[in-house]
Amino acid sequence: MKKHMNIVDFKWLKVGYCVQSEHFSLSNAPFRKKRFYATVGVIYHTNGIYLYDTGYSSEFYKQTKKFPFSLYAKSVPVFYQEDNSLIKQLSELGIQKEDIKGIILSHFHADHIAGLKELPSVPIYVFKKCYKQIRHKSGIRAALSGFVPNLLPTDFEKRVILLEDNQKADISLKPFEKMTDILNDGSLFAVCLDGHADGQLGLYINMDKPVFLISDACWSSEGFKKNILPPWYVRFFLGNNKAYQKTLEKIYQFHLLNKDVLILPSHCSEYWEKKNV
Ligand SMILES: [Zn+2]
Repeated sequence: MKKHMNIVDFKWLKVGYCVQSEHFSLSNAPFRKKRFYATVGVIYHTNGIYLYDTGYSSEFYKQTKKFPFSLYAKSVPVFYQEDNSLIKQLSELGIQKEDIKGIILSHFHADHIAGLKELPSVPIYVFKKCYKQIRHKSGIRAALSGFVPNLLPTDFEKRVILLEDNQKADISLKPFEKMTDILNDGSLFAVCLDGHADGQLGLYINMDKPVFLISDACWSSEGFKKNILPPWYVRFFLGNNKAYQKTLEKIYQFHLLNKDVLILPSHCSEYWEKKNV
Protein backbone atom coordinates (compact mmCIF):
# COMPACT_ATOMS: atom_id res chain seq x y z
CA MET A 1 0.00 0.00 0.00
CA LYS A 2 1.35 3.39 -1.01
CA LYS A 3 2.41 5.40 2.03
CA HIS A 4 1.80 9.08 2.18
CA MET A 5 3.96 11.42 4.16
CA ASN A 6 1.48 14.24 4.80
CA ILE A 7 0.42 12.79 8.13
CA VAL A 8 3.13 13.13 10.71
CA ASP A 9 1.45 12.07 13.93
CA PHE A 10 -1.76 10.86 15.53
CA LYS A 11 -3.08 11.11 19.07
CA TRP A 12 -6.21 9.65 20.62
CA LEU A 13 -7.88 11.64 23.40
CA LYS A 14 -10.62 10.79 25.90
CA VAL A 15 -13.17 13.56 26.36
CA GLY A 16 -15.74 12.39 28.91
CA TYR A 17 -17.40 9.00 29.23
CA CYS A 18 -20.69 7.29 29.88
CA VAL A 19 -21.41 4.26 32.02
CA GLN A 20 -23.26 1.36 30.48
CA SER A 21 -23.55 -2.39 30.77
CA GLU A 22 -20.71 -4.18 28.99
CA HIS A 23 -23.25 -6.66 27.63
CA PHE A 24 -24.78 -3.95 25.44
CA SER A 25 -21.49 -3.72 23.55
CA LEU A 26 -20.76 -7.43 23.10
CA SER A 27 -23.35 -10.19 23.22
CA ASN A 28 -20.92 -12.55 25.01
CA ALA A 29 -19.97 -10.03 27.73
CA PRO A 30 -21.45 -9.95 31.25
CA PHE A 31 -24.02 -7.42 32.54
CA ARG A 32 -21.31 -5.44 34.30
CA LYS A 33 -21.14 -1.64 34.33
CA LYS A 34 -18.29 -0.24 32.33
CA ARG A 35 -16.95 3.14 31.24
CA PHE A 36 -17.29 3.93 27.57
CA TYR A 37 -15.08 6.89 26.74
CA ALA A 38 -15.96 9.45 24.13
CA THR A 39 -12.86 9.94 22.03
CA VAL A 40 -11.28 12.41 19.66
CA GLY A 41 -8.64 11.62 17.05
CA VAL A 42 -5.99 14.32 16.63
CA ILE A 43 -4.37 14.09 13.22
CA TYR A 44 -1.19 16.05 12.55
CA HIS A 45 -1.23 16.84 8.85
CA THR A 46 1.48 19.00 7.29
CA ASN A 47 -1.28 21.61 6.62
CA GLY A 48 -2.37 21.69 10.26
CA ILE A 49 -4.52 19.69 12.64
CA TYR A 50 -7.60 17.66 11.73
CA LEU A 51 -9.90 16.22 14.39
CA TYR A 52 -12.05 13.10 14.22
CA ASP A 53 -15.19 13.83 16.30
CA THR A 54 -15.31 16.07 19.37
CA GLY A 55 -16.38 14.00 22.38
CA TYR A 56 -18.54 15.44 25.19
CA SER A 57 -18.62 19.03 26.45
CA SER A 58 -20.56 21.04 29.04
CA GLU A 59 -22.93 21.90 26.18
CA PHE A 60 -24.16 18.30 26.38
CA TYR A 61 -25.53 18.88 29.90
CA LYS A 62 -27.08 22.18 28.86
CA GLN A 63 -28.85 20.76 25.84
CA THR A 64 -30.14 17.61 27.56
CA LYS A 65 -31.84 19.31 30.51
CA LYS A 66 -35.25 19.43 28.92
CA PHE A 67 -37.59 16.77 27.61
CA PRO A 68 -37.28 14.92 25.25
CA PHE A 69 -33.47 15.19 25.30
CA SER A 70 -33.43 14.55 29.05
CA LEU A 71 -34.38 10.97 28.09
CA TYR A 72 -30.94 10.60 26.56
CA ALA A 73 -29.14 11.98 29.60
CA LYS A 74 -31.15 9.74 31.94
CA SER A 75 -30.71 6.52 30.01
CA VAL A 76 -26.97 7.07 29.47
CA PRO A 77 -25.29 8.66 32.52
CA VAL A 78 -22.56 10.93 31.23
CA PHE A 79 -19.46 12.06 33.12
CA TYR A 80 -17.54 15.05 31.89
CA GLN A 81 -15.42 17.70 33.60
CA GLU A 82 -14.18 21.01 32.26
CA ASP A 83 -10.72 20.01 33.50
CA ASN A 84 -10.64 17.46 30.71
CA SER A 85 -12.25 19.55 28.02
CA LEU A 86 -11.13 19.02 24.45
CA ILE A 87 -9.83 22.60 24.20
CA LYS A 88 -7.77 22.16 27.36
CA GLN A 89 -6.31 18.84 26.25
CA LEU A 90 -5.46 20.29 22.84
CA SER A 91 -3.75 23.30 24.40
CA GLU A 92 -1.71 20.94 26.59
CA LEU A 93 -0.50 19.42 23.33
CA GLY A 94 0.42 22.91 22.12
CA ILE A 95 -2.55 23.08 19.73
CA GLN A 96 -4.56 26.31 19.53
CA LYS A 97 -7.98 26.67 17.93
CA GLU A 98 -6.52 28.41 14.88
CA ASP A 99 -4.28 25.39 14.18
CA ILE A 100 -7.36 23.24 13.52
CA LYS A 101 -8.09 22.98 9.81
CA GLY A 102 -11.04 20.64 9.89
CA ILE A 103 -13.29 18.38 11.95
CA ILE A 104 -14.20 15.05 10.42
CA LEU A 105 -17.45 13.77 11.93
CA SER A 106 -18.19 10.07 12.09
CA HIS A 107 -21.93 10.55 12.71
CA PHE A 108 -24.34 12.79 14.62
CA HIS A 109 -24.78 11.05 17.97
CA ALA A 110 -24.37 13.49 20.85
CA ASP A 111 -21.14 11.95 22.18
CA HIS A 112 -19.46 12.65 18.84
CA ILE A 113 -20.67 16.20 18.15
CA ALA A 114 -21.08 17.83 21.60
CA GLY A 115 -17.84 19.82 21.30
CA LEU A 116 -18.57 21.39 17.89
CA LYS A 117 -19.61 24.77 19.30
CA GLU A 118 -16.23 25.10 21.03
CA LEU A 119 -14.52 25.19 17.65
CA PRO A 120 -16.21 28.02 15.76
CA SER A 121 -15.72 28.48 12.02
CA VAL A 122 -13.71 25.25 11.52
CA PRO A 123 -14.88 23.38 8.39
CA ILE A 124 -16.77 20.15 9.15
CA TYR A 125 -16.53 17.07 6.92
CA VAL A 126 -19.24 14.42 6.98
CA PHE A 127 -20.90 11.98 4.59
CA LYS A 128 -23.84 13.59 2.81
CA LYS A 129 -25.88 10.44 3.41
CA CYS A 130 -25.33 10.72 7.16
CA TYR A 131 -26.38 14.37 7.30
CA LYS A 132 -29.51 13.69 5.22
CA GLN A 133 -30.66 11.19 7.85
CA ILE A 134 -30.78 13.71 10.67
CA ARG A 135 -31.16 17.04 8.90
CA HIS A 136 -34.91 17.34 9.46
CA LYS A 137 -35.12 15.43 12.71
CA SER A 138 -36.27 17.29 15.80
CA GLY A 139 -38.00 16.65 19.14
CA ILE A 140 -38.73 13.09 20.12
CA ARG A 141 -37.67 11.65 16.73
CA ALA A 142 -34.25 13.21 17.14
CA ALA A 143 -33.95 12.21 20.81
CA LEU A 144 -34.81 8.59 20.02
CA SER A 145 -32.02 8.47 17.49
CA GLY A 146 -29.41 9.91 19.87
CA PHE A 147 -29.32 13.25 18.09
CA VAL A 148 -29.58 16.57 19.96
CA PRO A 149 -30.07 19.22 17.24
CA ASN A 150 -29.01 22.16 19.41
CA LEU A 151 -25.52 20.70 19.71
CA LEU A 152 -24.97 21.74 16.11
CA PRO A 153 -23.60 25.27 15.70
CA THR A 154 -26.09 27.67 14.07
CA ASP A 155 -23.74 28.13 11.10
CA PHE A 156 -23.38 24.38 10.57
CA GLU A 157 -24.81 24.51 7.04
CA LYS A 158 -22.23 27.10 6.03
CA ARG A 159 -19.34 25.14 7.47
CA VAL A 160 -20.23 21.64 6.39
CA ILE A 161 -18.48 19.91 3.50
CA LEU A 162 -20.64 17.01 2.39
CA LEU A 163 -18.73 13.98 1.14
CA GLU A 164 -20.03 11.42 -1.32
CA ASP A 165 -19.71 7.81 -0.22
CA ASN A 166 -19.43 6.29 -3.68
CA GLN A 167 -16.05 7.39 -4.95
CA LYS A 168 -13.14 5.23 -5.91
CA ALA A 169 -9.77 6.20 -4.56
CA ASP A 170 -6.22 5.32 -5.44
CA ILE A 171 -5.75 3.00 -2.50
CA SER A 172 -6.77 -0.55 -1.69
CA LEU A 173 -8.53 -1.14 1.60
CA LYS A 174 -10.08 -4.51 0.77
CA PRO A 175 -12.78 -5.64 1.37
CA PHE A 176 -13.90 -2.00 1.31
CA GLU A 177 -14.25 -1.02 -2.31
CA LYS A 178 -15.09 2.64 -2.20
CA MET A 179 -13.60 5.40 -0.16
CA THR A 180 -13.27 9.14 -0.44
CA ASP A 181 -9.92 10.89 -0.45
CA ILE A 182 -11.02 13.74 1.82
CA LEU A 183 -8.20 16.21 1.13
CA ASN A 184 -7.34 14.86 -2.32
CA ASP A 185 -3.77 14.19 -1.28
CA GLY A 186 -3.89 10.50 -0.38
CA SER A 187 -3.68 11.10 3.36
CA LEU A 188 -7.19 10.74 4.82
CA PHE A 189 -9.78 8.34 3.46
CA ALA A 190 -13.44 8.31 4.47
CA VAL A 191 -14.92 4.81 4.43
CA CYS A 192 -18.67 4.31 4.70
CA LEU A 193 -19.54 2.12 7.69
CA ASP A 194 -23.33 1.85 7.47
CA GLY A 195 -25.20 0.17 10.28
CA HIS A 196 -24.91 1.86 13.65
CA ALA A 197 -25.79 5.02 11.73
CA ASP A 198 -26.52 5.35 8.05
CA GLY A 199 -23.49 6.90 6.37
CA GLN A 200 -21.29 6.50 9.45
CA LEU A 201 -17.78 7.64 8.49
CA GLY A 202 -14.75 5.51 9.26
CA LEU A 203 -11.41 7.24 8.77
CA TYR A 204 -8.35 5.54 7.37
CA ILE A 205 -5.24 7.56 8.19
CA ASN A 206 -2.53 6.79 5.67
CA MET A 207 0.66 7.23 7.64
CA ASP A 208 3.76 5.23 8.53
CA LYS A 209 1.82 3.21 11.09
CA PRO A 210 -1.68 3.39 9.59
CA VAL A 211 -4.71 3.92 11.80
CA PHE A 212 -8.33 3.06 10.99
CA LEU A 213 -10.90 4.85 13.15
CA ILE A 214 -14.14 2.87 12.97
CA SER A 215 -16.41 4.95 15.19
CA ASP A 216 -19.28 2.85 16.60
CA ALA A 217 -19.14 0.02 14.05
CA CYS A 218 -18.37 -1.90 17.24
CA TRP A 219 -17.73 -0.71 20.79
CA SER A 220 -14.94 -3.01 21.74
CA SER A 221 -11.88 -4.28 19.84
CA GLU A 222 -12.96 -7.81 20.65
CA GLY A 223 -15.97 -7.11 18.43
CA PHE A 224 -13.99 -6.70 15.19
CA LYS A 225 -11.24 -9.17 16.16
CA LYS A 226 -13.71 -12.01 16.68
CA ASN A 227 -16.66 -10.69 14.68
CA ILE A 228 -18.94 -10.50 17.72
CA LEU A 229 -21.98 -8.28 17.47
CA PRO A 230 -23.80 -6.45 20.25
CA PRO A 231 -27.10 -8.14 21.26
CA TRP A 232 -29.90 -7.99 18.67
CA TYR A 233 -32.04 -5.50 20.61
CA VAL A 234 -29.17 -2.98 20.71
CA ARG A 235 -28.69 -3.30 16.94
CA PHE A 236 -32.42 -3.07 16.41
CA PHE A 237 -32.68 0.12 18.44
CA LEU A 238 -29.57 1.81 17.11
CA GLY A 239 -29.61 1.43 13.39
CA ASN A 240 -29.84 -0.95 10.51
CA ASN A 241 -29.22 -4.47 11.73
CA LYS A 242 -28.26 -6.02 8.38
CA ALA A 243 -25.88 -3.20 7.49
CA TYR A 244 -24.40 -3.43 11.01
CA GLN A 245 -23.54 -7.11 10.46
CA LYS A 246 -22.16 -6.52 6.97
CA THR A 247 -19.93 -3.68 8.12
CA LEU A 248 -18.56 -5.61 11.10
CA GLU A 249 -17.83 -8.61 8.88
CA LYS A 250 -15.87 -6.32 6.53
CA ILE A 251 -13.83 -4.81 9.36
CA TYR A 252 -13.14 -8.32 10.65
CA GLN A 253 -11.86 -9.29 7.17
CA PHE A 254 -9.87 -6.07 6.89
CA HIS A 255 -8.22 -6.81 10.23
CA LEU A 256 -7.23 -10.31 9.12
CA LEU A 257 -5.63 -8.87 5.98
CA ASN A 258 -3.99 -5.85 7.64
CA LYS A 259 -2.62 -6.78 11.04
CA ASP A 260 -0.28 -3.76 10.88
CA VAL A 261 -3.19 -1.30 10.94
CA LEU A 262 -4.24 0.04 14.34
CA ILE A 263 -8.04 -0.23 14.33
CA LEU A 264 -9.75 1.91 16.94
CA PRO A 265 -13.46 1.74 17.80
CA SER A 266 -14.45 5.10 19.33
CA HIS A 267 -15.51 3.76 22.72
CA CYS A 268 -12.98 1.00 23.35
CA SER A 269 -10.47 1.59 26.15
CA GLU A 270 -8.04 -1.18 25.14
CA TYR A 271 -5.73 1.41 23.54
CA TRP A 272 -5.06 3.06 26.92
CA GLU A 273 -5.01 -0.20 28.85
CA LYS A 274 -2.23 -1.42 26.56
CA LYS A 275 -0.37 1.87 26.76
CA ASN A 276 -0.90 1.86 30.50
CA VAL A 277 -1.68 5.60 30.66
ZN1 LIG B 1 -23.08 6.46 17.94
